[in-house]
Order: sequence, then structure tokens, then C-alpha cells
Amino acid sequence: MTPAANHRAVTMRDVLRARQRIAATIRRTPMAASSSLEKILGAPVFLKLEHCQVTGSFKLRGAANAVFSLSDADKERGVVGVSTGNYGRALAHAARQAGVRCIICMSRLVPANKVEAVRALGAEVRILGESQDEAQEEVDRLVAEEHMIMLPPFDHPDVIAGQGTLGLETMEDCPEAGTLLVPLSGGGLAAGVALAAKTLALNIRVVGVSMERGAAMHASLQAGKPVQVREYPSLADSLGGGVGLDNQYTFAMVRDLLDDVVLLSETEIAAGVRHIYWKEGEIVEGAAAVGVAAILAGKVKAKTDAPVVALLSGRNIDHALHYRIISGEDVDLAAE
Ligand SMILES: *Cc1c(COP(=O)(O)O)cnc(C)c1O
Repeated sequence: MTPAANHRAVTMRDVLRARQRIAATIRRTPMAASSSLEKILGAPVFLKLEHCQVTGSFKLRGAANAVFSLSDADKERGVVGVSTGNYGRALAHAARQAGVRCIICMSRLVPANKVEAVRALGAEVRILGESQDEAQEEVDRLVAEEHMIMLPPFDHPDVIAGQGTLGLETMEDCPEAGTLLVPLSGGGLAAGVALAAKTLALNIRVVGVSMERGAAMHASLQAGKPVQVREYPSLADSLGGGVGLDNQYTFAMVRDLLDDVVLLSETEIAAGVRHIYWKEGEIVEGAAAVGVAAILAGKVKAKTDAPVVALLSGRNIDHALHYRIISGEDVDLAAE
């Protein structure tokens, strides 16, 4: 398929259907005005508090839509994944809701609290090998030999449509929005949100925000095709990882729908987490703070005086790390 054809693989109809399909499982998250950020930016700023989503991130929207969309035969087979982060939690929760078996494969290096979090959500955890690659081999085996279904974290039409429901809600909450700031990694969130927002508001600007080091989608957009980048430890750990060299959907959608991509240093991301805690009273992870961080860093401007909306995408941060950041420490994980 050409990228142009892929582009139509997800439509607004899919987003509307996703919303119905997942309505009973997800929380409709609140939108809050931020007077502190309005003073800094000189235009109204709203925060979509999606870190309050069930399982602690928007990833539940896409995972639930993908699991609930499976045929009965595929539901019988069960689903597998390798994510130890927000997607693993979301997949485990969605599968339990649907009564579908779920196995998450992890390497022995994954910290015990992450293993427990996934297990507590009802998934079977399989711990093997010393790397993510070895865990992936077990997933491949489960798919090949036990015919389980692998649902990827972003590059899948049902996942993108599910994330699109966040764009739909955001535009209902703030129809006059002029700019949306969306955390950007594999691009499932940005693709879905941009699709919904641009269907509902023709002139809206959608800006992706990533960390400076290891921003795979940004590098891919620059190269004109999906490329691999070196990974670095980041406060925005949920934005790490590649876009997949065989990317089918999100690369083309992000390329065609996003107006701009902004990159942030670790210091800037930390300032975002700090501001959201001290001024907004919310605990978020680094990846969720990038929109606010971009405003604080002066890297986004309002379009006339139309509101700017930042999506706070998740809250799953190690509390000791969060404490260090809000205490003012200039944390650089790459140097630790
Ligand atoms: C996964 C994730 C993102 C990025 O989503 P993509 O669809 O991979 O671009 C942003 N924030 C949080 C909290 C996440 O878990």
C-alpha cells in the first residue's frame, strides 16, 4: 500500500465508532483552564487531564478499541505484548474487561514494581532473557505456535482510532482551540488526535512535542521515511523507542497531519513536570509534561489569541524520581 492509501486506513467514522465501543471502559477526562500558563503565553491555555485516565494514561483508549474490535475467534486466542510501560498496563486492563487472555513478555531486567503493576491488572507475565529482544522472541513464538494475537502499541488502525477519541473529547471541551500540543513518540496519539481535531476544526494547528535526544518520529520526518535512532534515557521515558522501519500507518499520518514538531531538553521537560505540580497541583510523568514545557520554554506561540490546549498524557512516574524533579534537582538520567 502507498502511504496515501494508508492514510485513509483510519477515518473519522472509525473514531466515532471507537468512542461508542470504549465508552463504558474509559473515563471522560476533565479539561482545566490554566491561569498561570495564560499569563506566560498571553493567550488562554487549557490542560486536558488525560493522566487521570484509567490505568494512568490515554493508552487505554487505543488498547480497548483494538481488543474490543477483535473477532470472537481472535478473542479466543488471546493477546500478547512486550510493553512494560503504559501500553502493557492498558492492554492488560482492556483484555481483562473483555475476558480475553493476555500475556505480557518481559526481560529479567524489568523492575519488580512494573512487573507487579501489569500482573495486578490481570495479565500473565512471562519473564525471560536479558533484553527486550528476547522478550519479543517469545511474543513471536506465541503468535506463530499458539496463534495468539499481537496488538502493537501505536501502528494499528484500531489503536489510532481509539487515541482519536481523545482528540474528539478535546474539541468538544474546547471547540475554539487554535493549537493542540500533543506528546509524540510512535505517533499513534498524534495521528488519532490530529485526524479528529482537523476533521472538526479545519484551521486548527496540531504540534507534536518530543525530547531532543532519541526522537525517532522527528528524525524519520526529516529523513522522509522511518529511520532508527539511538536511544537515550530520558525523563520522558514513555516517548522512547522507534517508529518501526516497517511502519504502515502512523508515519504517513503524522507527516501529513502535524503542522510542526518541537523538541525539548531534559531541563525543559523537568521544568514542565515541576510547573504542573506546583502551579496546577497535578502529578504527571515526563512525557505528559512536554506540552506545558514547550510553552514554558517559549517554543510555541499562540495562533492569534485562540486557546492553546496541552494534552497531559500520563501519570506513571517513579515517585522518587518525581520528588527529585519537583524539589528542583536538575536530573539528567543519561548521566546517572
Ligand atoms: C505512549 C505515550 C505517549 C506517546 O504516544 P505515541 O502514540 O507512541 O506517540 C505519550 N505520553 C505517554 C504518557 C505515553 O504513554
